[in-house]
Amino acid sequence: MSFISTRGGEAVSAPQAIVRGIAADGGLYAPVSLPRLERADFDAFSRMPYPARAARTLALLLDGFTEEELLPMAQAAYSRFDDERVAPVKALRDNRFVLELFHGPTLAFKDMALQFLPWLMSASARKQGEKREIAILTATSGDTGKAALEGFMDVPGTSVTVFYPQGGVSAVQEKQMVTSRGKNVHVVAVKGNFDDAQTGVKTLFGDPAFIQQMNALGKTLSSANSINLGRLAPQVAYYLSACADLLAQGSIAWETGVNVCVPTGNFGNILAAWYAKRMGAPIRKLICASNQNDVLTDFIRTGVYDRRRDFHKTISPSMDILISSNLERFLLELAKGDSDQVRAWMEELKTEGRYEISAEQKAILQDIFFGGCAGDEETKAAIRKLWMEERYLLDPHTAVAAAVAEEYRQSSGDASPLLIVSTASPYKFASDVAQAIQVEVKGDAFEAGRALESATGVKAPEAILALKNMPVLHTRVCEKDQMGQAVLAGFAGQG
Ligand SMILES: *Cc1c(COP(=O)(O)O)cnc(C)c1O
Repeated sequence: MSFISTRGGEAVSAPQAIVRGIAADGGLYAPVSLPRLERADFDAFSRMPYPARAARTLALLLDGFTEEELLPMAQAAYSRFDDERVAPVKALRDNRFVLELFHGPTLAFKDMALQFLPWLMSASARKQGEKREIAILTATSGDTGKAALEGFMDVPGTSVTVFYPQGGVSAVQEKQMVTSRGKNVHVVAVKGNFDDAQTGVKTLFGDPAFIQQMNALGKTLSSANSINLGRLAPQVAYYLSACADLLAQGSIAWETGVNVCVPTGNFGNILAAWYAKRMGAPIRKLICASNQNDVLTDFIRTGVYDRRRDFHKTISPSMDILISSNLERFLLELAKGDSDQVRAWMEELKTEGRYEISAEQKAILQDIFFGGCAGDEETKAAIRKLWMEERYLLDPHTAVAAAVAEEYRQSSGDASPLLIVSTASPYKFASDVAQAIQVEVKGDAFEAGRALESATGVKAPEAILALKNMPVLHTRVCEKDQMGQAVLAGFAGQG
């Protein structure tokens, strides 16, 4: 199998796509075709430990990698998780299930891919005879940053520079990033929002002068953002894994399947679910849950993607996004592989701030996806409801999904089994979670964590409690049009 840019051009191998991160034309690498699994493949998955499931998935998706070489990588990648099932599925009432993706070192689902990516990245570089250092540049809305810093920390032949929107991430997220250790890690706050930071990184990838300066330093650029194929592929594994578990338990039937609800920002996680569906996973409707930044909800409902709207800071900051980059991969499908069409839409998005798909394409989109959104009050209500009814504690991102999934069930009357994808530990957003379930909090996010733990009896992860007393090692701030200089300054030893 091989990969093509969503904006056209020649196919590249998986190792090439992973090292490059983004195509030279600004497009994302998308699979030319996908493998197809049968019922027996899911039965086999259900008997394997998680790393073996991941290795098999990646061997199917990525040309140039064998299952044998991927297995030790997967074992290493998931060795730091605090649950040996890695991505366990928990049952709630009413035929609802939660896929917990937050058992990694940074307590958010990004670890599922970012603990794996450095292994894929260095193996890909080796396969290509790449001698230069791979300089990872990444923009984060909160969770990617820390997960990338943890994943790449002191990995030989790599460095990582993370940009986050100043004041645009939670206190815990910021503390996690600015206390990061490792000789090869750099953290910079950008004066702007997440879209500014993401646009800034994308611009650097297309800036010949900047690329040349980096080359002169013996470095080649790559991305750890969710646009990197090496991020996307490991995410497909947990959907196949969850379906295998649900089938093996008899919780879902092969013929009728399960609806999957994903709290969505950049469209990476839900895109992986869609790839899993196309590979034969028994997934029915994909429910795309947004917070008050409801650009995807409107897109799915109207066929018009319009980013010309206010940007809202919410209690689910990792979803505060108006330009969902990974949607571009789905658009290529919607356009039946017509990359000229995709390029035209992306150009319109850039110049006009909007684009519109055809009525026929909208019908296909709506057949696959349901789009819904929940504001902060509804999100807190969803946290409260599940805690009161089932003593299950949700983080605000997952709560957005729970609220939208409920809306879908009521509005559609579709009571099929439902898998809610849980993307973060509630302790990562303890103040808002505590407030939602009316636990009184005095003090900062760390006090909130302690209060939440004693009120609920749900154990707080060690990693969060230890943070409070860790020294701040990164204090740099830059303007949104100065990000290139900030990267170079980092290598000059000024941060
Ligand atoms: C990144 C993130 C999301 C959004 O995932 P996308 O792949 O960007 O759609 C949702 N929840 C949490 C906790 C996240 O960190």
